[in-house]
Amino acid sequence: MLERRSVNDIPIPQMLREFGIADGASQQLARESLAEWGLMTRPNRQRIARYKRDDALEALSESFLWHCSNGDCRTAARGAPPGTPPLLVEQPHCSVCGGSRDSSALARMAGALAAARLSRVLVVGGTENKCREIQGKSPGGIEWRFVDGKAARPDRLLRSDREWAEVIVLWASTVLDHRVSAHFPAKGDDRVITVPRRGIAALAEAVTRHVG
Ligand SMILES: [Zn+2]
Repeated sequence: MLERRSVNDIPIPQMLREFGIADGASQQLARESLAEWGLMTRPNRQRIARYKRDDALEALSESFLWHCSNGDCRTAARGAPPGTPPLLVEQPHCSVCGGSRDSSALARMAGALAAARLSRVLVVGGTENKCREIQGKSPGGIEWRFVDGKAARPDRLLRSDREWAEVIVLWASTVLDHRVSAHFPAKGDDRVITVPRRGIAALAEAVTRHVG
């Protein structure tokens, strides 16, 4: 059966290539995962609605350990936790060797915060995995708190985090519901920065620029 085309759809192979998921076996794994997440009705679909792209990327980042074909990265991926099977991707998207970029960006961020005599950073948005990854890679000297971007909550439950924070990051490219971000208005609050790009390095670089 032919699927109807629309400008609001993108071909799935193209979307996966943009994510760095290029080879056939990896694309197949990704498709099965997206179907399990309910982001497509069946794994062999040709196209996906454009608005689902960010959710698809988030789901695949959650579901797999992304590694490149580099020998060390393959070895590291074999030791992945059982819930996170390895997924072969292009090198710039590798979470193993790409990770050193995150660590050095976080180190620069720690230096910039220390120079500004700040330490308390609240991140609004991002998945649980990403938050764990940030804490794992972060050098000492940064205190982190995270607000789940998906779960709308009454303001009183967010107040103490908001008052505690010295820097508030709205991680806008991740799963971040407007009903959550609305509790952290950027207007009139110079602690709030919006980071439009995904990735830990991008977040760390934005904070470094903000406090520097
Ligand atoms: Zn790698």
